[in-house]
Amino acid sequence: MIGIYGGTFDPIHYGHLRTALEVKEGAGMDEIRFVPCRLPPHRAEPEADPALRLKMLELALHDAEPGFSIDTRELDRQGPSYMVETLASFRTEIGNRPLCLIAGLDAVNGFPRWHRWRELFELAHIVVMRRPGTAPDFTGDLAQYVAERSAEHAAALSLRPHGSIHFVDVTQLDISATRIRETVRSGKSARYLIPEPVLRFIESKRLYR
Ligand code: ATP
Repeated sequence: MIGIYGGTFDPIHYGHLRTALEVKEGAGMDEIRFVPCRLPPHRAEPEADPALRLKMLELALHDAEPGFSIDTRELDRQGPSYMVETLASFRTEIGNRPLCLIAGLDAVNGFPRWHRWRELFELAHIVVMRRPGTAPDFTGDLAQYVAERSAEHAAALSLRPHGSIHFVDVTQLDISATRIRETVRSGKSARYLIPEPVLRFIESKRLYR
């Protein structure tokens, strides 16, 4: 089973890395591919440009958990980074193997604003990570989609290629890229919120000042 962990990673932090590991082990995934987006369609443009965000991901994942990798297909694609197109391209490559889109609850609450969001369920399972300060807020059709497709046990995901939604209890780490950028901007240290090589890179490039 393959997990797709999409994000802006502006910058990558331990909230991403620890939850990715817990999801991999908890849901029995063989691999997790981190997919940095070039241009998020439904939120403000990232502060660091794509090449810098990719470099920070590489630094964070160097020598990391086996099965973790980076996939640059959204960076290589022009236009807004629509997840439905990303999943469709993975699906073409992997045939009928189970595929999971891993997303925090804040992201899933926003699905109704995502381009062709209903089709996500035709391409992948959705694995939802609870996140501090965010409660489920499923509006419109999304509430019905969740109710009809909920899989209580992760084992159900490996039985079908796509179509279920599963909630995982990950360690609640109240770490966000927004807070890290604010911390750096205010002249304070982001140490222990992000991997040390990423911290040094941010300092050397004077990012988020
Ligand atoms: P920002 O503060 O800039 O919005 P972020 O910290 O939310 O950034 P993203 O790269 O936008 O990071 O997030 C990618 C994915 O990781 C999203 O699905 C998000 O919900 C999830 N995520 C990020 N941080 C955490 C965390 N601490 N716990 C659980 N999920 C997280």
